[in-house]
Amino acid sequence: MNKKDYYEILGVSKNATDEEIKRAFRVLAKKYHPDVNKEEGAAEKFKEIGEAYAVLSDKNKRAQYDQFGHAAFENGGPSSGFDMGDIDLEDILSDLFGGSFRGGFSSFTDAFTGFGGGRRTSRATRGEDLIMRIKLSFEEAINGCKKDIKVNVNEECSECQGKGGHGEVKCPTCNGLGVIKEEQRSLFGIMQTQKTCPECRGSGRTFKEICNSCGGTGRVRKNKTLEVDIPAGVFSGSQLRLSGKGGAGINGGANGDLYLEFEVEEHEFFERENNDIYLEVPITITDAALGCRKEIPTLTGNGYIEIKPGTQNYTKLKLKGKGVKAINSNSYGDMYVVINIITPTKLTKKQKDLLEELSKTDLDSEPEFKEFNKALK
Ligand SMILES: [Zn+2]
Ligand SMILES: [Zn+2]
Repeated sequence: MNKKDYYEILGVSKNATDEEIKRAFRVLAKKYHPDVNKEEGAAEKFKEIGEAYAVLSDKNKRAQYDQFGHAAFENGGPSSGFDMGDIDLEDILSDLFGGSFRGGFSSFTDAFTGFGGGRRTSRATRGEDLIMRIKLSFEEAINGCKKDIKVNVNEECSECQGKGGHGEVKCPTCNGLGVIKEEQRSLFGIMQTQKTCPECRGSGRTFKEICNSCGGTGRVRKNKTLEVDIPAGVFSGSQLRLSGKGGAGINGGANGDLYLEFEVEEHEFFERENNDIYLEVPITITDAALGCRKEIPTLTGNGYIEIKPGTQNYTKLKLKGKGVKAINSNSYGDMYVVINIITPTKLTKKQKDLLEELSKTDLDSEPEFKEFNKALK
């Protein structure tokens, strides 16, 4: 395998002093530390930098490398047996950064031992947010309602209270340190190596018995039914946040949230525009001309409106405060009744006779007719 030159990796010359090598590593390690740099490939780069530094900062290894290149550390080479994964990171870190990197220490070592999939982390992590689309009838949306919402969500495992096992003990493999050190004899003397404890994955704690219910993850997928109070006044596209009803947090992290997004069905007669309601009301030509009291449906049951004598088509009547209650407020929209005068199409003999009689009277004395007749001249 063609490996990159260690001097190139650190960006120093072949004659670089120990101080220059140390300085270059310090800058690069901070730049590519996985806690800081989330870019793809940063962890690989970080690992590469550490490997280069481990060799070039060691007088003997550097001499071997200068003479034999990478072959020095490969099987059969003069220093074979030196495994790049077995670098004493603790020494490198305390040497360069003192205590400042202690918080990121486990990810530092992780970068060297490789990122495993599905690793159980000991860090507190917030649960995931969920979004669900909920269909509401027109009435449910304007009046508010209680709904049983079925969710499939990650819950804290009740069997182990989210711990992942039973009988918590100090990890026997690492003695609670989360990392294990190994000493290895080689041609160059004793080499101390350190890596994240594979038994507890760095948490320092383990269990006498791994939880069967959750397989050690501390969380189980569950179908749950939530009874939710949906406030009056929601509309299509509005969201309701149910705090903490999303996925369970991990290692003491907060739960995620559940968002309900509403889709409201259309009503057969009412049309809603924000918090106002529109209703088209058909009336006869005689009711329009003579006026009448007309029964109409409203959001709160049937009621009456007064149609004045001489009402024109598409007259809009406002019923103040008879609209939808605004969400999270005590104000109401208005209701508008739109008059639709229906010209009769199936006349009985008697109706026709009456209308013939009526037509002989002077019905076209309204100003609109006079105005129009001028246009015919
Ligand atoms: Zn469990
Ligand atoms: Zn351990």
